Amino acid sequence: MNFNGKTVLITGASRGIGFEIAEAFAKAGANLAICATHENSLVQAAEKLRALGVKVYTQAVDIANAQQCEDFIAGTVKELGSLDVVVNNAGITKDNLTVRMSEQDWDDVINVNLKGTFLMCKAALKVMFKKRVGNIVNISSVVGEMGNPGQANYVASKAGIIGLTKTLAKEFGSRGIRVNAVAPGFVQTAMTESLPEDIKNKALEAIPLKRFAKTQDIAKAVMFLASEDASYITGHILAVNGGLYI
Ligand code: NAP
Repeated sequence: MNFNGKTVLITGASRGIGFEIAEAFAKAGANLAICATHENSLVQAAEKLRALGVKVYTQAVDIANAQQCEDFIAGTVKELGSLDVVVNNAGITKDNLTVRMSEQDWDDVINVNLKGTFLMCKAALKVMFKKRVGNIVNISSVVGEMGNPGQANYVASKAGIIGLTKTLAKEFGSRGIRVNAVAPGFVQTAMTESLPEDIKNKALEAIPLKRFAKTQDIAKAVMFLASEDASYITGHILAVNGGLYI
């Protein structure tokens, strides 16, 4: 896929799935704007991405803060000259059974995952709206579709992202802006690697394709939705879950 000269903004790109998405877009020629809350890991990620020959703008941003989202979008347009694609990837978990879940943990997860996605979409859409072109890909989760015990806050945030994605697709389609989401299943990360063998095997049993997703599987799905190949697709939630939830 070719994203030569395009500007792609990715939240939470200092590690994990977000970094993989950033690397995939950089290899396809896109200049990048990346954020995370911790500056050190962001700077290290940016160095690796610049080695691929693209421009990388970084800013420490808490996506739950409206002003910081606005500043990041403005900084991206100023430094890189445009804003073509936004990937809302940053997310956190604070798991507990509902009766033991504190109000604070509920608020923290909803504020980052759902409100943060809304704030970044809102700030980006103001720029895209004027240009009458743009593309947003939000990262949801399979648990937002199927529910998961111990994750009421996270599941609600990821289900909320699905509703937000569909609504924005309807609000902005006539302006040439497409809004889609990717809903990953289990992804092979440090976290899933460290799961006890029996839990891992139980999870694998439920996945028809009998493997966890690679971070590249998620990045490829995001790039497809952001590409011209998906030019007639909007409001879609693309499941990348190996068949875990059909
Ligand atoms: P991760 O390794 O924990 O990375 C999360 C990224 O988000 C980091 O760069 C982190 O950097 C950043 N971040 C966290 N809070 C932020 C905030 N308030 N503002 C800005 N950036 C913030 O997570 P991951 O496993 O790659 O997951 C990425 C996305 O995929 C998340 O939305 C997650 O819910 C979703 N997902 C993951 C899986 C999975 O199996 N891993 C499955 C389904 C969906 P700082 O710590 O510096 O802020």
